[in-house]
Amino acid sequence: MSDSVRDASCIFCKIIDGQIPSKVVSENEYSFAIRDNNPQAPTHILILPKNHIANIGEVSDSQLLGRLFQTATAIAKSENLEKGYRIVVNTGNDGGQTVYHLHIHLIGGRALGWPPG
Ligand code: 5GP
Ligand code: ZN
Repeated sequence: MSDSVRDASCIFCKIIDGQIPSKVVSENEYSFAIRDNNPQAPTHILILPKNHIANIGEVSDSQLLGRLFQTATAIAKSENLEKGYRIVVNTGNDGGQTVYHLHIHLIGGRALGWPPG
């Protein structure tokens, strides 16, 4: 991407740039999907926009949001999560966000409890 936006202090930007190793699930022009290194279920994948965006509240490009969610559902199919899965976007401190580079959690492979803590 010629117009990529990275934040030099961001761990996910470093992963996208290959400076920090990760288990890559898929990559395309606008997104990068990796396995979470502290998985909360048998399948736990993070879908990241390649451009650094702090959280979902900062997204102005609705097409990008749609593409990220479509990528998540396509990965759910390729991971054989036909019994179901959960898509989560933790946002801000109260939302439990710990990495301030937007990411969609795709979690599945077991029955998930509700409500979240
Ligand atoms: P958040 O809490 O911001 O919604 O989610 C951040 C996620 O990133 C957590 O599930 C955490 O395990 C994962 N994570 C943090 N650092 C790394 C890393 O260096 N590599 C990978 N693969 N996942 C990470
Ligand atoms: Zn970043």
